[in-house]
Order: sequence, then C-alpha cells, then structure tokens
Amino acid sequence: MAGGVATHRGVRDTFVGVLDRGWLRAYSESTNTFRVGDAVPDGPDELAELERRRAELYAEMGRVGDFRRGSLNEVRRKCGKPNCACAAPGHPGHGPQWNLTRKAAGRTRTVHLRPGPELEKARWEVAEYQRFRDLVGQVTEVNEAICDARPVTLPHPGDGDPSGTGGEKGGS
Ligand SMILES: [Zn+2]
Repeated sequence: MAGGVATHRGVRDTFVGVLDRGWLRAYSESTNTFRVGDAVPDGPDELAELERRRAELYAEMGRVGDFRRGSLNEVRRKCGKPNCACAAPGHPGHGPQWNLTRKAAGRTRTVHLRPGPELEKARWEVAEYQRFRDLVGQVTEVNEAICDARPVTLPHPGDGDPSGTGGEKGGS
C-alpha cells in the first residue's frame, strides 16, 4: 500500500527558490537550469485551470479522515519452548501480532494492536496519513506551477523593505 504512491502529474521539479528582487534576472540568466518550458503554462487559461485544480485538492484535503503517522508491521515470534509447535523448522511462529511503530525524537514508539477492529482502525488511520501526504505533494506541485504562471503585476512583498538592497530596482 505504501508503495502505491504514483507521481503521475507532468509538473517537474522546478527551482522556485526565494523570490527576492534578483530573481527575475537570475531567471533569465539561467533558463537552462530552470527548464522554464516544462512547468510554465501557456497563459491565463492555464493559470485558471491550475487554480481550479488547487481548489479541488484543498477540498479533498478537507475530506481526509483521522490520520496518524507510523507504520504497521506484522510480527511473529518463537516462544522458545522446545516442545512448542513453533519450534519446528518452517513454523512461522506465534502471531501474528501487529505493531504500530513510529519514530519520534529519535525514539521508536511501538503500540501493540489486536487483530480485528482495533487493527483495522489503525490501518485506516495510517492509510489516511499517506493520502494526506500525497495530497500535500500534489498541492505543492500545483502551487509551484501557479507561482511560475502568475504574471508579475503586483508590487513584490519585498519592495520598499528598508532592510533590502534598495538600489537594484529594475535589474540590469
Ligand atoms: Zn511457541
């Protein structure tokens, strides 16, 4: 299930960097690196389409159910008693027992789960987290494409910032 994340969108990874005042110049100087044509859409229609897609993705994110980080592992173990059936070669061992593990602050936290509703609930929650992560990736790509497509019409947030390097307005 975790391996099923597919990157099917055509938007490539494109450097968006920090959109400071020098950005436009850097943009024109290194178009090979930026691969502009791969991600920049063709016009206002494309921009509107991207914004529509973004709204869809945000709406879908709002429909994601309870989620949690972690991974579910099936664990079987041999009890060590020589007379137990599990001592026979090829016996898979007792279980399965299901563990929900999660790394947090360098430590791995493990929660044991009983098969049945408890396990199914956790399975769902973990899957919803993957879905959420996938949506975050998609909405990030769409946002980056929107950034590339958005024409420069408004004053840049950095403009007029007295702490900036004010002398370079207009570039070259
Ligand atoms: Zn045993």
